[in-house]
Amino acid sequence: MSKDWKVDENWSLFLDRDGVINERIFDGYVLDYKDFHFKEGVLESMATFAEKFKYIFIVTNQQCVALEKISLEGLNALHAQMQAEIEKAGGKVTHIFAATELKNQEPFMRKPSIGMGKMAKALYPDVDFSKSIMVGDTNTDLIFGKKLGMKTLLIVTNEKVSVKPDVSFSSIKAFKDSL
Ligand SMILES: [Mg+2]
Repeated sequence: MSKDWKVDENWSLFLDRDGVINERIFDGYVLDYKDFHFKEGVLESMATFAEKFKYIFIVTNQQCVALEKISLEGLNALHAQMQAEIEKAGGKVTHIFAATELKNQEPFMRKPSIGMGKMAKALYPDVDFSKSIMVGDTNTDLIFGKKLGMKTLLIVTNEKVSVKPDVSFSSIKAFKDSL
């Protein structure tokens, strides 16, 4: 259970985006902020996480940039709006990492590759992966977290997941309530 992890103010939280923070668009991408919808309880949970965690990172695969469905500037603008809304609700986001490469090119950044974790560690050297939780809704999130030695937490959705997480929750809010 997450209670046994003894999370304190030195811990880091790594959050996937689609399916964790916002409603995932299956077979598509969020290309416009009007289609970005926070999942229920996320904003209030982010406010609690801001008090509990030293660093809060968002690590998101967005090959829609490589597919030229959205520009990098467009994605960054969308993320700035998301971050502003989280901060307005009392939350914090230390850094957003977006892997924009194509799925089929053995990318360095794209989960389950660990590039985004390595970048977080490079920018914030006191990040301790043994005191980090990766929260995701897919196999790739869990593999990313396990490769880096993080605790892994699955948000259960309709997605079929074969990798075993350390813990599972029905929502971010349920995890927040367990802290
Ligand atoms: Mg996801």
